[in-house]
Formats: sequence, structure tokens, C-alpha cells
Amino acid sequence: MRKHIVAGNWKMNKTFEQADDLINEIVEKLETTELDRNTLLILCPPFPYLEMTSDYANDSYFMVGAQDVSSHKEGAYTGEISAAMLDSMDLDYCIVGHSERRQYHGESNAMVAAKVDQLLKHDIKPIVCCGEVLAERESEKQFDVVKQQIVEGLFHLSAEQFSNIVIAYEPVWAIGTGKTATPEQAQEIHAFIRNLIAEKYGKEVADNTSILYGGSCKPSNAKEIFAQADVDGGLIGGACLKAVDFLAIATSF
Ligand code: PEP
Repeated sequence: MRKHIVAGNWKMNKTFEQADDLINEIVEKLETTELDRNTLLILCPPFPYLEMTSDYANDSYFMVGAQDVSSHKEGAYTGEISAAMLDSMDLDYCIVGHSERRQYHGESNAMVAAKVDQLLKHDIKPIVCCGEVLAERESEKQFDVVKQQIVEGLFHLSAEQFSNIVIAYEPVWAIGTGKTATPEQAQEIHAFIRNLIAEKYGKEVADNTSILYGGSCKPSNAKEIFAQADVDGGLIGGACLKAVDFLAIATSF
């Protein structure tokens, strides 16, 4: 049975002290929150807070992920963080190909593929983002765009490697805008993605792949979105910065 996953992408938010407060609050609230046994909670704070977050995770019920990784192995790449470094900190997950990386840092599907390869070499599970921009949705190109992102970013993997992949469908027009895809729109694309995976890797791999929705997901709409047959949870931006909202979403299955 595939996992339900709720992952919080903090992006570039919080000072060290604020980060400490937020994780502390999440840990406290988790003591009295009934998380479904099949639900995995993942916190993806900025790089400087990964160690602190991992320390908290040792005594709590969440896992830790990074927001990005270098496509290079090691060497003269100032400012970059390698998969080996994340591995040496025992990280479990890493977001790859977020639309903000694609938009502001020119991250191509080929770079996504290279980052995924680096992560898999170090047994870190990639959370791979895909999704169309508004103009692509308006011209009904969303299926073509998402297919190309997945084929070019992931379909070089073997079935065994692919079984470590989590996919996050994030329509770019819904990220941080307050506009959410309707549950039907989310289901339509999630089913399309699962079908693509089934065609390439077979039904079993497709059925075991967690496909998350991201884009203005909040406590008031999570239940309806997560109730869709092919939606296995969410990648949460803004709403993960408040412990009470993040945990309300995590209990929306
Ligand atoms: C995101 O950036 O991954 C995201 C889903 O953001 P938000 O929830 O703020 O739309």
C-alpha cells in the first residue's frame, strides 16, 4: 500500500530561533495528534536548520528533507550542497525540480534527472515536482508539459530505482497564489501521471508510487483534495509555517 505523505516546504523562511520554535511546537503537538499509521510527515527546512531539525526528528514522528541538492558530485561549486553531504547528515528526502528552482535558477528537466541520480546514489528519496504554468493550463497543454517533465526527469531510471521516487504535482498557477486546483483537476492529472508510470514500469510500481498535490493546500481544502483516488497527500508551502495548520493538513486523510 502506498504511503500518504505530507511534506512541508519551508522555502526561505524563518530565522534560526523562529525555526526552533516552529519545530518545537510541531513536536509538542505531535504528542497528542492522531496521525494515521500510513501517513508520513516530512519537514523540509532551509539547509542551515537541517541538523537541528534532524535532532528533533530523532525523538519525534517526522522525517527530514532538504529543499534542493547539487547536480554535481563534489568540488568547486561554491554555495552548492551535495547529495553526499545530505547523506552524511542522515537525511531521508530531498525536493527536486520545484517550480521556483525551475523559474529562478533555470533548472531544466536534464538537471532534475542529474539531481535525482545523485540522490539515489546516496539512498535519499527524491520528491520530484512537476506542473504547468497558467498559460500552459489555459492552452490545455498541462498533460504534455507534465509528461515531458516526468519522462525527461525520471524515465531513465530502472523500475527498482523508480520505486524510491515521490512525485509532487504542483500547478504553478496555484503555488502561493491562494488559487487551488479543484479536486477534480488534481485527480485528473494525478491519474494521468499514475498511468504514465504504469505504461513505463508496470501497474505494481505505479500503484506503489505516492503522488502528492501542491498549490495553496490548506486545512480548509486538504480533505477534499486528499479524498481523490490518486492523490496521496500534499507538498505544503505557506500553510506548513504554522504548526497547527500543518498538522491539521496531516490529519486530513
Ligand atoms: C510549494 O511551494 O511547494 C507550495 C505548494 O506552496 P503553497 O502551499 O504556498 O502554494
